[in-house]
Amino acid sequence: MKVLVTGTAGFIGSHVALELLKRGDEVVGLDNLNDYYDVSLKRARLARFTGHCAYTHAHGDLADRDAVEALFREHRPQRVVHLAAQAGVRYAAENPHVYVSSNVTGFLHVLEGARRHEVEHLVYASTSSVYGANTTMPFSEHQSTEHPLTLYAATKKANEAMAHSYAHLYGLASTGLRFFTVYGPWGRPDMALFLFTRAILAGEPIQVFNHGRHKRSFTYIDDIVGGVVRALDRVPGIDDRWNGDTPDPASSGVAPYRLYNIGSHESVDLLRYIEVLEDCLGRKATMRMLPLQAGDVPSTEADCSDLARDMGYAPSVRVEEGVANFVDWYCDYYGVVRGARFAAHEAREANAVG
Ligand code: NAD
Repeated sequence: MKVLVTGTAGFIGSHVALELLKRGDEVVGLDNLNDYYDVSLKRARLARFTGHCAYTHAHGDLADRDAVEALFREHRPQRVVHLAAQAGVRYAAENPHVYVSSNVTGFLHVLEGARRHEVEHLVYASTSSVYGANTTMPFSEHQSTEHPLTLYAATKKANEAMAHSYAHLYGLASTGLRFFTVYGPWGRPDMALFLFTRAILAGEPIQVFNHGRHKRSFTYIDDIVGGVVRALDRVPGIDDRWNGDTPDPASSGVAPYRLYNIGSHESVDLLRYIEVLEDCLGRKATMRMLPLQAGDVPSTEADCSDLARDMGYAPSVRVEEGVANFVDWYCDYYGVVRGARFAAHEAREANAVG
């Protein structure tokens, strides 16, 4: 199968591309390698598969309508996994236009390409942020998502609405996946686990928002990749069994349009997450407690019963295992010689105490 994957230099996109290549798919990747964070990390992710004979890379911007159209025309992908987007919540304060050009205009170009070139199935990334200020836990797809709290969440909510309209108007089959806080090897440097690890290793304080009272469905990357691949393989309206007697309020019931949460069933306290990281690093964090930030939601918890029902799939990796894998990768990638560094750090601490 030929699959267009957008955002292949990104955290999730690089893992998805590798997995599809491993199972024998042909992958066309698109990324603009923007400098939202360390571009060398993006290049290093790409380097894991750019030499693969079934991988073709296209450098380009989703907001460039002609370039996206040319990509579809030239490569004629059968299916699309759309993961490229401007992620992150706080960056929008200074750069609101990027969210609209990449996430809304860019998404429109992907929808148009998919429609015009008769793509069988579009799988795209949405987010748990669409649940906004919802406080009924766990979050289920059947809950209201009327009030996103950030521009990022609003653009993802717009994606879901746009995908629905294309499913209804043109029969474009799509599956939206609401990812819950994803972490793991090759992760994003702007996210908490990465920031905490870097600061703890440098002996610097970590910033803990909401005085550590956050709870999150921290979801390991392999669990996300597994869900994306399963979703890709089940084309709504063709492979699904929802049109029969199972009610499916998340969709119109007619259009080939599906939406699923993918997140760990375990909602973990932020302080517990930090404790697990401390154990893996063998060091204590110095915490700077800060109030809840505007746009932050205090808790997320994923209800994945629809995913389990329709795809027989559920995330399963616990934070103890996932964080340990992240730390292993981090130390390898940044050349942190664990034993020596940790020992030196501990000796310094002991001297300071003495
Ligand atoms: P990422 O920033 O690591 O990856 C996104 C990639 O898309 C980057 O390599 C970037 O260069 C590329 N990109 C951005 N704008 C582009 C544009 N206009 N044209 C071409 N390429 C562009 O982010 P990620 O964590 O891998 O996220 C992947 C998807 O999952 C995103 O849609 C994100 O919103 C969604 N998501 C992620 C998380 C998470 O916790 N990581 C949670 C919920 C949803």
